[in-house]
Amino acid sequence: MKESSGPTREEKPDNTVESTAASDTNLTRRDFIRDVAAISAIAPLAPGSTVTTPQADATPSARKPLSADTFIGIQMGPQTLFDEGIERCLDLIRETAEVNAVMVYSQTYHMDMRRPLQTLAPDHGVPLKEMSGRKLPQVWMKTHPQYYQHTVLRHQQPDSTYEFADRDLFAELVEPTRKRGMKLYARILEGSGSIAAQSITNFSQVRAQDVFGQPTSFACWNNPDYRNWWTGTVEDMFRSYQLDGLQWGAERHGPLMTTLLSGRAPFCFCVHCQARCQAKGINVDRARQGFTELCAGVRALQHSPPGTSGAFAGLLRVLLRYPEVLGWEYQYRWSREETAQAIYKTVKAIKPAAQVGWHVDHQQSSWDQVYRAEMTYGEMAAYSDFIKPIVYHDILAPRIRWWYLDRLQKSVLSEIPLDESLDFYYATFGYDRKREPSVEQLDKSGFSPDYVYRETKRTVVETAGKANVYPGIGFDVPWNEQHYPSVPENVYQAVRKGFDAGADGIVVSREYDEMRLPNLKAVGAAVKELTRAQA
Ligand SMILES: [Zn+2]
Repeated sequence: MKESSGPTREEKPDNTVESTAASDTNLTRRDFIRDVAAISAIAPLAPGSTVTTPQADATPSARKPLSADTFIGIQMGPQTLFDEGIERCLDLIRETAEVNAVMVYSQTYHMDMRRPLQTLAPDHGVPLKEMSGRKLPQVWMKTHPQYYQHTVLRHQQPDSTYEFADRDLFAELVEPTRKRGMKLYARILEGSGSIAAQSITNFSQVRAQDVFGQPTSFACWNNPDYRNWWTGTVEDMFRSYQLDGLQWGAERHGPLMTTLLSGRAPFCFCVHCQARCQAKGINVDRARQGFTELCAGVRALQHSPPGTSGAFAGLLRVLLRYPEVLGWEYQYRWSREETAQAIYKTVKAIKPAAQVGWHVDHQQSSWDQVYRAEMTYGEMAAYSDFIKPIVYHDILAPRIRWWYLDRLQKSVLSEIPLDESLDFYYATFGYDRKREPSVEQLDKSGFSPDYVYRETKRTVVETAGKANVYPGIGFDVPWNEQHYPSVPENVYQAVRKGFDAGADGIVVSREYDEMRLPNLKAVGAAVKELTRAQA
């Protein structure tokens, strides 16, 4: 389900960037080396800095020819475009990173965009604004009631007390992107927690229910009001604005991985999920009993010392006695995919040329083996124009250390020492333990660009040409609310590795307002070099 159409990077932008910091638009290899040297000099102990030398490259290249049409997207927060100025911002990303597609949030229910100042890039040429205390909207499109007749949910309607309430982001972006030959994509991550509860009217009516009958902080895929809200939203979006595409995502584990990693109560046991699973022949009471025992087992392990014996056998015992747990988990995943299918179908019916694809978040792409086992990218490709797996090489290291290894050791992998657990992880995910950090290094050094290659390759092989693959190349992604610096040479290599693995394009990630200029330029250097190599 792919379609090749794209803007041309050859078209000259009408406006030039004014500031000194951003005016260095003729990036050469020498500039790039200078930037690398500058970064190394100021941050000798930066995470990832121990991997600055490119590895000896034994990996075969499956690179497709790059051209001006090759998709080079970038993820942005809406407020950044207004803060930095639309024209100025578009020029900057194009001239530094060769970006030809802008992906901007239409809603920001998933996280507070007022992030700590120290995590934001100070070198875009516009003074940073203090974010705390700002009253930013959660909805960045004008909504129209006729599209929401089949759902009780309603979007926030920002009044004049909100910043930018009089602005219309997607309408304002059309002309500036068109004249630069750039594509305009909306970007959505579903919301949860207090932001969703406070800004989405009637959100409490669609909350998923945990195994104990308590409402969770997120919505249920099988609730028709929730699914219809998404289809209504994307219908509104594509009927009201001239958008070229949509990237949609939901950053959650399923009930099984959630419980195994955190001991949080399994879900969803609402009436819709019970009816669905019952229709599939799954005994609701036994599923509930199995999940309850699993949850109790994990919680007991969380209060036991590492090395507690019987932990893994305990997991197997529950799964053997209550195979309903696995059936419930699998139905959960299907209900998520059916939501994606409904979104895909809705957009394509309105605008067949629009490109609709999925944000596969970091846990899903790089450590949730259950997500990986449930469905291949090849199966997802049937309702995807593109798939974007997150492959943020630097920040993966602390995430694996603290969000995966540590949590599993306090759970069903209690008996396995961390270094052996890490080896098992590398082996089963197909990463090269010789190139990737040891347990001790995970707090000091990022993953290598080879990880980007391997994870992109897996996506390319599974999709088998049925959908475009755009790895999300991430850098300067914060950790514990602090800037977690990336090194330009590794960013440069990560981009090259993505294309070497057969990617159809890339998405520069995670948020533009975090991205330091030398790293944006490193992206541009790699793209230019690969494009030139084809000429
Ligand atoms: Zn449910």
